[in-house]
Amino acid sequence: MKDKELFKQILGLSHPWEVSKVDLDIANEEVEIEIIYKSKKGFCPECEVEYDIYDHREKRRWRHLDTCQMKTYIVCKVPRIKCKEHGVKTIKVPWAEKSSRTTLLFERFAIELLLASKNQSKTAQFLRISFDMLHHIMSKAVERGLSRRTEEDIKYIGIDEKSMKRGHTYVSVLSDSERRRVIDVSEGRTTSSASSLINKGLTEKQKEGLKAVSMDMWKAFIKAVQKELPNASIVHDKFHIMKYLNDGVDKTRREEARKLQKSNDKTLVKSKYLFLKNPENMTDKQLSRFRKIQELNLITSQAWAAKENFKEFFRSETINDAKFFFAEWYQDIKERSLNKMIKVAKMLIAHSDGLLNYIRYQIDNSVAEWLNGKIQEIKTVGRGFRKFENFRIAILFFLGKLDLFPQESQ
Ligand SMILES: [Zn+2]
Repeated sequence: MKDKELFKQILGLSHPWEVSKVDLDIANEEVEIEIIYKSKKGFCPECEVEYDIYDHREKRRWRHLDTCQMKTYIVCKVPRIKCKEHGVKTIKVPWAEKSSRTTLLFERFAIELLLASKNQSKTAQFLRISFDMLHHIMSKAVERGLSRRTEEDIKYIGIDEKSMKRGHTYVSVLSDSERRRVIDVSEGRTTSSASSLINKGLTEKQKEGLKAVSMDMWKAFIKAVQKELPNASIVHDKFHIMKYLNDGVDKTRREEARKLQKSNDKTLVKSKYLFLKNPENMTDKQLSRFRKIQELNLITSQAWAAKENFKEFFRSETINDAKFFFAEWYQDIKERSLNKMIKVAKMLIAHSDGLLNYIRYQIDNSVAEWLNGKIQEIKTVGRGFRKFENFRIAILFFLGKLDLFPQESQ
């Protein structure tokens, strides 16, 4: 009798919900708490009107927080009422949300654990539940969080692509630069997936109030933004531009390495990361090799210096300063015949409006880089995602800044 009262208190139950039985299964390390509804009347979950109990559903089980390391379940045959307006309905239970397989407290704990560990498989293992069940808790939390979002003004957004796994499966990510959060994610990186993402993630009012969209020079995204957000300026941010310039350096290096190797010169063999890494982050050994290569004044080192110099562009205070810097920089790489860099420069010229908008809006680039790194972490921990929906839920769960927790019971 005592344990019934104890569990009633732990579960926070009040009349007419009562604990009728507590079963201990030592062999399987399980506790089963049976709950009954001791009243002849109940409320319609839709309209809150009181009716007589009509019948009871079949017995259901909810996973609850462990009791002394024993898996604990709540079982109940939940009553139904017959509402004049809504028909036969199962009444609300105080320990769980509708169609949930776990109790509210269990869900809270799972969400807290996930946020702390950032690791789905470890959390599922710790809670002794299946990966599917944990994913279900996560999707419900995200759904809940999305429905609680308010329609605040958003000035700047970012739209970016991210690969989902090795190969060529991509997702598009819409982010809120000021609040450092992901708004939503869609499958693919086409114009239509970007369009649907914008319309899914932003309300009409938010779309109208938007000032600028920061993104890569990816045609599909540019088209989508021009169509869906005609009043917003397109900004090509530092993060993406530096990626192209780094790529230009690497292509220069590959070409020169091949040339040198023909005359048996191995100077540039296995030097890819030397030219991609920031010298500040190099080991002593790497730095000394890098310096030695620099002294040779190879084309690759010149391309690298041009890439480094370009960072000055982003520090321009006015549009005119930026234009002036770009012209000088372009002249310099042309005089040096840095062909791969010239190719990148031509692409930048074709997108000069978006490039100059970066100076105009002075957008903080740290958010794009930070989010990119965080999504990469989620991918690494999840060892790549096979299903789009799982990837989306994980991104929104960890980076959506959502109110994920279920309401406390009563
Ligand atoms: Zn009703």
